[in-house]
Amino acid sequence: MRLVAATLYALRIPFVESFSHSATERRWSDSVVVRVRDEAGTEGFGEGTPRPYVTGEIVETMLEHLTCELWPRVADRELPPACNLEALAAFLPETSLAGAIAPHASRAALELAVLDCALRRAGRPLATLLPPRRSRVTYSGVITAGPIPRAVQHARQMRAIGLHDVKVKVGFDDDIARVTAVREALGHDASLRLDANGAWSFERAVHVLNAVAPLGIAAVEQPLPRGPVEDLARLRQAIPVPIMADESLVTPADAEALIAGEAVDLFNVRISKCGGLARSLAIAERAAKAGVGVQVGSQVGETAILSAAGRHLAAALPTVAFVEGSFGTLLLAEDVSVESVRFGHRGEASLLTGPGLGIRVVEERLRRRTVAVHELTTAG
Ligand SMILES: [Mg+2]
Repeated sequence: MRLVAATLYALRIPFVESFSHSATERRWSDSVVVRVRDEAGTEGFGEGTPRPYVTGEIVETMLEHLTCELWPRVADRELPPACNLEALAAFLPETSLAGAIAPHASRAALELAVLDCALRRAGRPLATLLPPRRSRVTYSGVITAGPIPRAVQHARQMRAIGLHDVKVKVGFDDDIARVTAVREALGHDASLRLDANGAWSFERAVHVLNAVAPLGIAAVEQPLPRGPVEDLARLRQAIPVPIMADESLVTPADAEALIAGEAVDLFNVRISKCGGLARSLAIAERAAKAGVGVQVGSQVGETAILSAAGRHLAAALPTVAFVEGSFGTLLLAEDVSVESVRFGHRGEASLLTGPGLGIRVVEERLRRRTVAVHELTTAG
């Protein structure tokens, strides 16, 4: 069965409440959703979230890369059967994008759409390629930057709904007071981690982390900007808190360098950042072999499409330290699927068992929330 058409939707779904960290403030989702169609009319949906400070992509370069580089090389080609994740991922060409670390949001969006389409055509759920090892997934809460009283209010809400794992954004002048206040509001049973989004200098990281370590910090995400792995390795020796790579981990080569340099304790594997499910799975498996823990992370403002893919990945890994995402309408004014992916009490969510990614996307909602639609067909 050949792929005959694709539609790109540049989404802009408003947030219920703005979300900020040291690298940006976000008031709406700016994902790009890809819908592919095969010659029998079977459709599949994928999503990527371009971030200039993560992969180096923005919405415009992602639309162009999909239109001019990725789509022409899969259009009119025979889709491999839906029995092997690697074969489906290998169906996509290897591409690069000038000025970007890797065009991974673009690749992830198309990979997920192709995967969803191939599985739907066969009437099979993604679990047939990625068998789950647990019956539910437990998500973390994430506390946005902003005034400390607001962070405390969020921490209290998270405690009230029984979330066990919480992350707080840091990288500001008041970090020590902020972490102290959040820990107090959460109580001592919750696991607390920090995410600096690369905002600290080496000295500042050492100072803050030594000061807050007695509060019980499970991990610190991206304390330093993306740069030489030696810097992270040196920091790791200077602080009593486990380090998680996020912005430093985009490509498989990044993963290898971080492992070889013994630079971090954990990887934050995110499907859009890491270039799709197959690549994310490979990085997670490589990490496990090297004794590096894995968090299945998410993109702020992702829709149910990326959340569904993340759910499958989190359910399938042999061990997973933390899981993020599936905020759904806790953050988005409207999500794009019939099924809600939003986590519930204690952060728990059940597995998705329907065909493909396991959600049904409502195309009319995409149309309503889009700022640009590109229709792509085959050259012939
Ligand atoms: Mg992060």
